[in-house]
Amino acid sequence: MIVVMDLRVGEGELEAVEHVLEEYGYRCHLIRGESRIVIGAVGSAKGEVPPALETMPGVEKVMRVSQPFKLVSREVKPDDTIITAGNLRLGGGFVSVLAGPCAVESEAQLNEAARAVKEHGATALRGGAFKPRTSPYAFQGLMARGLEYLRQARAETGLAVVTEVVNPADVEMVAATADIVQIGARNMQNYPLLREVGQLRKPILLKRGLSATVEEWLMAAEYVMSEGNYEVILCERGIRTFETYTRNTLDVSAIALAKRLTHLPVVADPSHAGGDWRLVKPLALASLAAGADGLLIEVHPDPARALCDGPQSLTPAHFAELMADVATLAPVLGKRLWRGEAE
Ligand code: PEP
Ligand code: MN
Repeated sequence: MIVVMDLRVGEGELEAVEHVLEEYGYRCHLIRGESRIVIGAVGSAKGEVPPALETMPGVEKVMRVSQPFKLVSREVKPDDTIITAGNLRLGGGFVSVLAGPCAVESEAQLNEAARAVKEHGATALRGGAFKPRTSPYAFQGLMARGLEYLRQARAETGLAVVTEVVNPADVEMVAATADIVQIGARNMQNYPLLREVGQLRKPILLKRGLSATVEEWLMAAEYVMSEGNYEVILCERGIRTFETYTRNTLDVSAIALAKRLTHLPVVADPSHAGGDWRLVKPLALASLAAGADGLLIEVHPDPARALCDGPQSLTPAHFAELMADVATLAPVLGKRLWRGEAE
């Protein structure tokens, strides 16, 4: 349930309402939006409404949330959540681009990719140090050394760092480097991992599972938020369908739907959706037209030699072309390409 509070409510009144809710077995999440203050009360098995709640000082109204996801829902927070990390800004009338190689392979490869994506307007560098590969024999990432190269690239370029964590035991280590922690598609329903990153106080990029419904994806975001980490970025990266000409099928409707059902920023990953560099631009532009706040793009200085996801990686030159088209399209959609504070 949500308890909508008067905008002028005092701290003491808020605490009194939270106290009553906690007595009824709820966990309280205070959500300060632009237009209202709301207490999201979740987690009570009985779901009883305390009888005096509606008449308590500072309480405007009490509402049930009809969706199974609560803190994620626009019913709880009507205005868009804007997430910032370093020079990256997601949501609020901008289109932002997170780009980089699938995997950190070497210091030179990462630096070259970082310089290129920055030059063409990305504000975050995405690269995996821990790779969740389908085959145990495939390159698994440089791990701690990869994190070190990411820190160096950030120091050199000022780009925010996005990198994946695959193991709950590594969350602290990965979060010490990452500005945004990525949860990959294969781990979208790894609930201990979701709870662990829910303990962090930094943004989580949550990729949609390979065969996850929109509701399962949003419930995964609810896991993270229920632990008190409200900065979740949803990432549509294509789902499994009967089609084999593409690696996955970009679910454009999920982007539009997620924007309607939730207040969280939505990013599209056309690289993993199409699985082919030639499909990246059309899918990226379609995603923006459907309402995506940002794009996650795989860029490699030499895709033919990439250790991971080369066929879907853009060269720096192709990335530059994509960014030019993004800059042209954004104003048509009433948005602007976000190039960072220095703009
Ligand atoms: C990735 O982002 O490189 C990746 C492994 O993607 P996904 O988890 O979407 O398959
Ligand atoms: Mn990849």
